[in-house]
Amino acid sequence: MLVEKNVPLQPYNTFRIVARAQTLVRVLREADVQALLADPELGPAPKFVLGGGSNIVLTGDVKAVVLKVEIMGRRLVAESDKAWIVEFGAGENWHEAVGWTLAQGRPGLENMALIPGTVGAAPVQNIGAYGVELQDRFESLDAIDLQTGRPFTLEAAQCGFGYRDSVFKHAAGPQGLGLAGRALITRVRLRLPKAWKPELGYLDLQRRQAETGIERPTAQQIHDWVCEIRRAKLPDPAVIGNAGSFFKNPTVTPEQCADIIAREPKIVHYLLDDGTVKLAAGWLIDACGWKGKSIGQAGVYEKQALVLVNRGGGDNGATGGEVMTLAKAIQTSVYERFGILLEPEPVVI
Ligand SMILES: Cc1cc2nc3c(=O)[nH]c(=O)nc-3n(C[C@H](O)[C@H](O)[C@H](O)COP(=O)(O)OP(=O)(O)OC[C@H]3O[C@@H](n4cnc5c(N)ncnc54)[C@H](O)[C@@H]3O)c2cc1C
Repeated sequence: MLVEKNVPLQPYNTFRIVARAQTLVRVLREADVQALLADPELGPAPKFVLGGGSNIVLTGDVKAVVLKVEIMGRRLVAESDKAWIVEFGAGENWHEAVGWTLAQGRPGLENMALIPGTVGAAPVQNIGAYGVELQDRFESLDAIDLQTGRPFTLEAAQCGFGYRDSVFKHAAGPQGLGLAGRALITRVRLRLPKAWKPELGYLDLQRRQAETGIERPTAQQIHDWVCEIRRAKLPDPAVIGNAGSFFKNPTVTPEQCADIIAREPKIVHYLLDDGTVKLAAGWLIDACGWKGKSIGQAGVYEKQALVLVNRGGGDNGATGGEVMTLAKAIQTSVYERFGILLEPEPVVI
């Protein structure tokens, strides 16, 4: 178990916000968690589990013990006529994991290429992009209960997956279902069906297909298209600090949608299978005039209003407070104009 004190967290969050961890423990193997929990000082202390820091906003120094998950490993654990089951250590980089499966001739994750962060965090918000979500490929995960030290395994049905949501985002309720702050995910297994078919439901991918004239793209081609589209649309966190989409796309009833369309005929919306309607949060923010605006060093990305960015660098960048002030101002104006409360996607610490 590697314990470090007074650790700068700027390199460990993609918003590049300046903050420190009083104590940071690198978790390289399951036994490190057990050693930490048995430690008389660290064991009872509050804890925060950190992956790649690509979905968090730090609003100050972190007093909780930061457990930085660096458990590595990738392997094929089972194979049947129907599917391959591959397992990854929670500290593996997600995008590299996608590339590894493709290099092994096992497609299925290509639409989720280039999502930053670790494999261990992928189930937390059920990551998704270009028509595929983690839950579509999820088999099971191993985790450790940070209160009791008990290891446990969860199947998909036990993870409560929803749109950018899972049991890991909710505190324990009266039914005791929430695991927020309680579970450290150590390993994730994914099911990659052998009967692969391309997922080309998204307009951007269909455009790429038309441009290239490729009727039956391979998984690698879809991977490359997704990377090109994402690089053109989203700011690279290595260049401009950000946490990807800052708000979830809200869903409304068809009646609410009809009411909004009557006032805002151009609103971007998609009908979902369950009859509800998803609205494009970026469109709502843009319609309120936020694109390119800033509060302090926190700004709204010029090319995509859904992404908040850190306009500064080094020690002079945005603070978490500035990011959250901007986020609240956006929420207020979207609520006042459309009656919709946008829900932030990143975890605020
Ligand atoms: C440029 C950019 C683009 C993005 N695009 C997408 C996208 O297309 N789709 C999408 O879904 N997301 C996207 N994101 C968000 C982000 O990439 C995902 O949420 C990712 O899964 C976060 O991984 P992480 O390792 O960085 O998690 P962190 O930011 O470190 O942590 C996020 C949350 O997960 C918890 N956590 C992390 N690791 C573990 C673990 N091992 N066990 C238990 N809890 C853990 C943390 O406590 C925290 O609550 C984007 C982010 C950026 C910066």
